[in-house]
Amino acid sequence: MASRIDKARIRDLLLELVRIDSLSRREREVSVRLEREMKELGAAAVFRDDAGDKVGGDTGNLIALFDGTVPDAPPILLAAHMDTVVPGEGVKPILEGDVIRTDGTTVLGGDDKSGVAIICEILRVLRDRGIPHGPIDAVFTICEEKGLLGAKHLDLSRLRARSGVVLDSDSPGFLFTRAPGSNGVLVRVHGVEAHAGMAPEKGLSAIQIAAEAIAGMKLGRIDDETTANLGLIEGGSAINIIPNLVEIRGEVRSHDERKLAAETEHIRARFAAAVERNAVAVEGKVRRARLEFHAERAYESMNVPDDSAIVQLVLAAGRSLGHSVTVTGMGGGCDANILNRRGLQVANLGTGMREIHTVHEWLDVNDMVLSADVLLETVRLNAAP
Ligand SMILES: [Zn+2]
Repeated sequence: MASRIDKARIRDLLLELVRIDSLSRREREVSVRLEREMKELGAAAVFRDDAGDKVGGDTGNLIALFDGTVPDAPPILLAAHMDTVVPGEGVKPILEGDVIRTDGTTVLGGDDKSGVAIICEILRVLRDRGIPHGPIDAVFTICEEKGLLGAKHLDLSRLRARSGVVLDSDSPGFLFTRAPGSNGVLVRVHGVEAHAGMAPEKGLSAIQIAAEAIAGMKLGRIDDETTANLGLIEGGSAINIIPNLVEIRGEVRSHDERKLAAETEHIRARFAAAVERNAVAVEGKVRRARLEFHAERAYESMNVPDDSAIVQLVLAAGRSLGHSVTVTGMGGGCDANILNRRGLQVANLGTGMREIHTVHEWLDVNDMVLSADVLLETVRLNAAP
């Protein structure tokens, strides 16, 4: 089927959006532009929630509710995030044929303005072509790049949809339904400082204790759905001082919550045991090594079943257009992780963004068109009898 997407229009909107600075917590200006777009496209209501106040940003999540022309079709959520990563100010997009790049000094911000542009374009096509559709909740989130904060604080009470599509990954034609949850780990091992040459027997080396713990630890690939890594280590103050502090940072990821908890506990227990074994008597007083251990949830896992309505709908859209859509897992987190955890059923469709979070970021407009075609057909089928 010929594309119903206007390639020049979606390209031009993307070029306009990436030129509007919108670092995390500073999405106001782009939200104002999108508010105008949503009103022009006939949204029944456009408003911001209070997520901006909660995270110290200059705007909340922007929400636009569109009535369905098939009112009893199930409402569908379409979401993308407005914020971009650094260096992301003063983006000067360069168009080479259908490929958009930067001048090499900033990211492009196709992550996730490609998703934003796709949503705007399909809303326009639905309206202009009079394509029947159900109610649509368009959501443009803030602070995705800051620990998915916009999605965490999204005011769900104002949404009608309980399932839908997030547009926030690279390959068009891929629908991401599974992602690991992750814990960030911060470890501080405290030893006892002493002069390394004059009185080493009075010291406890935090570095050596940490080494004892790490040497016996299961790290790297734990099993087919779990990984662990200690990625940063810092400690000590001079080569002639027995170090009294070493700080280690790492992460655990797993598709399975119990394994995530078990591996995090394994790391903690290894440090705790090493610290426990180490003490020194100084002038009749026993001084012990000490452990500080913090594990914090970085993001939640997600697992949308293959037989869920939203996955089946996107697959049907691909078939209907003659495009292959592959359901797969991904290694990172996005707003969909949070929304699924909060009781919605949301899968993540690729948009064509490439080499994201680098100054080499680029995007082929044809990929964006492909993704928009699939999304448009998804929304159409959602309201088809
Ligand atoms: Zn993103």
